[in-house]
Formats: sequence, C-alpha cells, structure tokens
Amino acid sequence: MRKELLKAVKRVVIKIGSRVLTDADGALDLAVIGRICCDIAALHAKHLQVVVVSSGAIAAGRSVLGLTEKPRTIPQKQAAAAIGQSLLMRAYETALEPHGLKAAQVLLTSEDLVNRQRFLNARATLDALLGFGVIPVINENDTVVVDEIKFGDNDNLSALVTNMAEAHLLLILTDIEGFYSADPHRDPDARLIPLVRGITREVERAAGGSGSKVGTGGMATKVAAAKKAGKNGVPTIMVDGKRAGIIAAALGGAEVGTLFLPSDEGVNRRKHWIAYTLKPSGRVVVDEGAREVLLKRGKSLLPSGVLRVEGRFERGGCVRVCGPDGVEFARGLSDYSSVEAAQLAGKKSSEIDDVLGYHYGDVIIHRDNLVVL
Ligand code: GLU
Repeated sequence: MRKELLKAVKRVVIKIGSRVLTDADGALDLAVIGRICCDIAALHAKHLQVVVVSSGAIAAGRSVLGLTEKPRTIPQKQAAAAIGQSLLMRAYETALEPHGLKAAQVLLTSEDLVNRQRFLNARATLDALLGFGVIPVINENDTVVVDEIKFGDNDNLSALVTNMAEAHLLLILTDIEGFYSADPHRDPDARLIPLVRGITREVERAAGGSGSKVGTGGMATKVAAAKKAGKNGVPTIMVDGKRAGIIAAALGGAEVGTLFLPSDEGVNRRKHWIAYTLKPSGRVVVDEGAREVLLKRGKSLLPSGVLRVEGRFERGGCVRVCGPDGVEFARGLSDYSSVEAAQLAGKKSSEIDDVLGYHYGDVIIHRDNLVVL
C-alpha cells in the first residue's frame, strides 16, 4: 500500500529536527548531514523535487558559544540562531557539493505565509529554486520573530511549507523510530504504530507533550503537523533520521516508521490557509441551531445564527466560530467587520440593508470561506 501511495510523490518536504542534526555534545553532526544530503542527491537523481525544512540553527549557535544549557531568553536564542544558521547552511552546502547540488537558504516567519502576497512570493521563489535544481533549505527566521509571528516549531513550519510548496509528502526525520502508543522513553510497553489512518483524539493523547531538550517540538507537534498536512490531502511519514538509508527506505515504500494517512475530506488549499495559516482576530459566537447547520450540513453562517461578536476584525478578516458554550468549532473569513457583524447579530438576511444601509451579501461567513476544525 505504501508503494502505491509513494509512486505519486514528485515533490517532498523533508523536515529534519535538531536532535537528528546534532551529536551528543550538541554540535552539528556533519556525518549525519553528509548522509542525509547523499540520500537527497539520490532522490534528486530520480527527478524528485526536495524541499528541506531544517532546524539546528540554535543548537549549532549554542555549541559555538560553548553554552551547556539551551539559551533561555528570546534574544539569546535569536543570537544563537544568527550564529548557527550560517554554520548550518555551510554544512548543507559542503555536504551537497560533492553531488553537484546547491543549497538555497530560505528564512520565513509566519507573517510571510499569512500575507497572501508574501505567501505567493515565497511560493514562486520556491518554484524557481526547484526549477534551477537547487535544494531549498528552509528555517524559521529566528532573528526577527516574536511570539505573534512565530511558527512556534519547525514541525508546524514544515506542514505549512508542505502546503505552500504543494508537496505530495511530508517526511519528518526525528530521533525515534516513529509514532508509539505511549512514550517509549518511559513506558516499556510502548509499541511502534506503523500506520495511523486518522488523527483521532486518542492519537493526539498518545502524542502527549514536548519531549526534546534540543529542539522545540515533541511528538505532539509532529502529530499536529501530520494532521495539518493530512487536512490538505498529503500523507506524512515519520522516521528515525539518524538511521542510515532511512530516506531511501521511506520513499521506496518500506514499512519504516509511521505513515499518517491524510484525512478523507482533504480540505482544499484555501481552506487550509484559513484554518492553519491565518491568525484569527476575533470570535463569532453562534447559537446551537447555527452550529448544527454549519457542522452537519456545510452551510454558510447567516446573521440570524449569531449570538454575539467578540474582538475586532475587518471585513475579510479571519475569525473563530464558537458554539454557545464558547468552544471554537470552525474558522472562517467574515464578510462583515466586527462592528457590522455585531449590529447584524440575530437579524434576518433580508434586514441587512435596513440595519447597515448597505449590503455585501446575505451571509456573515460564506461556506467556501468556512472550515470546520
Ligand atoms: N528554528 C530553530 C532552529 O533552527 C528550531 C525550531 C525547532 O526545532 O522547532 O534552531
């Protein structure tokens, strides 16, 4: 089954975690990077396009500075990343060079993917790089990020890049074999799960919290990344990145690590962008009837179903849609600003003109702009 699925893969995003890229002392493990680049070159020779999302900048910077602990303050992390990022790139360049390949550094912040214009620019640049036969090596632009514009972790970044690059597979290289039924470091009964058909609450629960001291992610963020890619119809494979030959094995369809199958519904790219890239700036609380209709029948949100509006957003802004209990169940782009939507709450669509004196349409959120989470 894996073989069939992997035949369709022409473009792959390979996410490489800090733990894979560093040795026991926390310095860049050039042998591992060399091996990974050799595998990448083999894929390239088979006309597969490879986009790398690589962590390791902070870890590399930290080892240059001789810090034994992870830097604590944000500016210290940013400084470590600035020091380490160039080392990281040099390591990729050096390792790709014997294969006749070149690397390109691409640093992104989440703002770059939220802004449609920048998103399209980044995508066009990636296409051009791949057209030149160059390997893009993407990392978060750690120097300039603050919380609001952070991807948070490179697992999340890799899922968003998979979407942006319209890749067919996300391959996550991490420091354990794959996804386990429990934390294998703590639970001797933990079993490796080779196939996850859908990311259910049980799967998310088994993934628990963050595990690594070197990177920022853990199993939870990897499962979240697989879920994001899956919502876009893309499978994820998670494998032990330190194992020699693992990339070729994974892409060749061998039963290694864990394969996460995409969810059936596979929302389209626009919906993926709404649900996972945009940052919502307000909430629309709807009544039970509207919640039912949105959840079960895939309809648009009408003003009559709106109980109240919280926060501020412009027309076209991304908002959380919450049930009467305040729990978010969907996200969408609002056709009306928060001020307008508040005035329209509970009104019939036919009354919009009377209330506002103008009318952009009958709905607050059109079903094409609404994603159930
Ligand atoms: N951008 C960080 C780095 O390169 C890594 C973040 C992560 O591992 O999730 O060091």
